[in-house]
Amino acid sequence: MLDLTGKVAIVTGGSRGIGRAVSIMLARQGANVAFLDRAACLVDDHTKGDVEALGRRSICVGGDVTDPASCAATVEETIREFGRVDILVNNAGITRDDLAMRMTDNAWAEVINTNLTGSFYMARAVLRPMIRQRSGRIINMSSVSGQMGNAGQANYSASKAGLIGLTKALAREVASRGITVNAVAPGFVVTELTESLPDNVKDGIKAATPLGRFATPDEIASAVCFLASDEAAYITGQVLGVDGGLAMM
Ligand code: NDP
Repeated sequence: MLDLTGKVAIVTGGSRGIGRAVSIMLARQGANVAFLDRAACLVDDHTKGDVEALGRRSICVGGDVTDPASCAATVEETIREFGRVDILVNNAGITRDDLAMRMTDNAWAEVINTNLTGSFYMARAVLRPMIRQRSGRIINMSSVSGQMGNAGQANYSASKAGLIGLTKALAREVASRGITVNAVAPGFVVTELTESLPDNVKDGIKAATPLGRFATPDEIASAVCFLASDEAAYITGQVLGVDGGLAMM
């Protein structure tokens, strides 16, 4: 059991999949959780309900990580509600897969803007309060696709590789202020994002994964919670693979 009692976390993309599992696990360890989605959380706030059922406080902020004003407003609203922000999990992410020669400008821009630029906007917005507190944890959701490259995912792989560079640069900038910045690089996880993959692709991924299966969202959430905890205080600028051995770096 990690102790996150009294900590305040912001999780982007918390309404479903990995972000939802992260929000609930952070709450189980004692954190209050603000989460941000474009619309889903406003329509169906089941993550908020689950966090509150664990005896923690939660707010759901409707916003878009591609909009810098929305990111700043999310951090402001979190601080207004909870008084501080200790943990940022940059989890919101999308795919728009296609072969590079057919990839549209929109498909490229949407993925880079959401996965990479959105994470930068959120990190920039939490840095000032975290520096003032002289403590903080930023955890960026990268991917094996960013480490190994994946055919048909030039935009996604570039965004996730970019997140690793962002993680390392930020880690160096803010280490002296007691803030750590790390990335988690999941392999393939059972969520809506991977649901639509054809069965033969899923079978190929399982065959290439030494542990022979996809991850559950909770297995990714465990790694995030560890990096958010005091137990990980001396870890910064790292990429923690949670991929069943798919990418052994
Ligand atoms: P899902 O598609 O299940 O969930 C994505 C979440 O991100 C949703 O809550 C979505 O909410 C939110 N989101 C998307 N765009 C925006 C935006 N512009 N602003 C705010 N929120 C947004 O994805 P997963 O849970 O599978 O993935 C979560 C993260 O993990 C992603 O970064 C993904 O790249 C990464 N990952 C996933 C893997 C997998 O196998 N599933 C493997 C490796 C990494 P809404 O649509 O309401 O905005």
